[in-house]
Amino acid sequence: MKMEVDQDLCISCGACVDVCPEVFGWNNDDKAKVSVDEIPQEYDDSSHEAAEGCPTNAIREI
Ligand code: SF4
Repeated sequence: MKMEVDQDLCISCGACVDVCPEVFGWNNDDKAKVSVDEIPQEYDDSSHEAAEGCPTNAIREI
């Protein structure tokens, strides 16, 4: 499973990084990014939780 962060929608609130730091990090523009190519199965739940908690729905599965 893969996810991506829509850079135009991300408001840099940090919620996803708080919920699932193993998958989400920051890029050079201080927007969130997915820092792994394929999301390990053990982070399936927490990455989905992060996506659902994103206030701007910037995170989507691809
Ligand atoms: S939760 Fe959404 S808006 Fe907040 S940093 Fe993550 S991707 Fe950006």
